[in-house]
Amino acid sequence: MTHGILALQGDYYAHGRVYDKLGLKYLYVKKPDELERVDTLVIPGGESTTIRKLARSIGLWDMLKEFDRPMMGTCTGIILMAHEIENDDEETLDHLDITVSRNAYGSQINSATQTGIYLPDNNEIEMVFIRAPRIIETGDRADVIARYQGETVAVRQGNKIGLTFHPELSDISLFHKILTDI
Ligand code: GLN
Repeated sequence: MTHGILALQGDYYAHGRVYDKLGLKYLYVKKPDELERVDTLVIPGGESTTIRKLARSIGLWDMLKEFDRPMMGTCTGIILMAHEIENDDEETLDHLDITVSRNAYGSQINSATQTGIYLPDNNEIEMVFIRAPRIIETGDRADVIARYQGETVAVRQGNKIGLTFHPELSDISLFHKILTDI
């Protein structure tokens, strides 16, 4: 198995470090033929407008829309994977039955480390939010898997996972393990 990490912009190296720690083989994906070779994909945090634009310009965007293998998006990743972005007319990959709002938390948690709950085992986990999106609507097809102060901050829909925070910056490998075990 080779696990892909979309490496157009953003904190993709941090995801590589998680895979290093787990001892899993991974590939930084920058081109269509690389995307074809991977069994799973992480879309990292960064800037959604930039990653969309770059993906389009190198012919990756439509492939990402059709990607039927396991995929996980953190922060920018969940924005791109959402069905709809409330405050942005741009197209999404539409892998998750949610609506998000970009940069939605305002100044108080533009960049903050908080404690939330991972629901499947009811454990507290650290959550790093950096100009994070907010999930403002969750449809029937998406399961809520983590909350922070009662708000949904992570969902799973089949083999697709989206998080509004950055586990790769907290050295949390739980979500990468779930992704690579699907
Ligand atoms: N604010 C960024 C966006 O809209 C997301 C920030 C992040 O990925 N940490 O894409």
